[in-house]
Amino acid sequence: MANALETKLSNAKDVARKFLVEEITEQRVGEYLGFFVEGENVATHKFKCVDKAYVGWNWAVTLAIVDSASEVTVSEILLLPGEGAILASSWIPWEQRVEPGDIGVGDVLPTAPDDTRLVPGYTGVDDLFEEKLTPEGWEVGLGRFRVLSVLGKDQTAIRWYDGDRGPRAPIAEAVTDKCVTCGFYVAISGSLGRSFGVCTNKFAADDGKVVSIDHGCGGHSEIVVDLHSIPTGGMVFDDDNLDTAELIDEEVAEVEVAEIDEDDDDDDTEVEDLDLSADVIDESELEESDENN
Ligand code: SF4
Repeated sequence: MANALETKLSNAKDVARKFLVEEITEQRVGEYLGFFVEGENVATHKFKCVDKAYVGWNWAVTLAIVDSASEVTVSEILLLPGEGAILASSWIPWEQRVEPGDIGVGDVLPTAPDDTRLVPGYTGVDDLFEEKLTPEGWEVGLGRFRVLSVLGKDQTAIRWYDGDRGPRAPIAEAVTDKCVTCGFYVAISGSLGRSFGVCTNKFAADDGKVVSIDHGCGGHSEIVVDLHSIPTGGMVFDDDNLDTAELIDEEVAEVEVAEIDEDDDDDDTEVEDLDLSADVIDESELEESDENN
């Protein structure tokens, strides 16, 4: 049951609206949305915000009263998100936001001391007796405080195998020849080397990348193509698009003389004293010339 102070605060809706309009302007204040009690002497009236920049937000005017003899006063006004309000994403710690490949030039990403992908490197004989090590589980950590753990290797192998350089990559499924038989495949050391190596074919899309032994591509070193079985077309001459040009009389004569020279060279004869100014060479001159010779 509402006490006298709550009733007085509840009835002060117009006080809240008047103050809001004075502060915000009437154009940004919408319909009345309700009232709720904040505490013993404090309550809030809510109004819809009709500012286009704050769709879904509501104005909250908080009122206070000292006692039943006092006047209601305004403590604060603020915007509160309502239904459909656009809100910022909730905060996520940076270490949970980092994704594979995020480290760029100049970036620094510290690795946690307890990162399960790493274990202390093998640094002395005593290590052999402190925990049971297997060839898959340890490697000499000369110069390194930590080396890849078994879990780290498992995660790496799964990530590489399921990635774009594993057997299910489209480029690998399109060919039958696999990396394991390719001359450009160079195995890596350690236990990961049983399943992975590096492609060294400069023409391959995966040159310099780690590939699984059952990956593959069309650049496999042993792929043989029978070039003679590839059909080729003959020379195509497009005589529909020849450029033509008019020859002047002197050029016609030169062409004809050249043709005659060619013919005479074949017959071991010479052409002498021809009238080059004629439009058409008189063949009788040629015959006479031949007879004289
Ligand atoms: S060239 Fe192709 S088949 Fe050969 S190692 Fe590279 S990716 Fe594998």
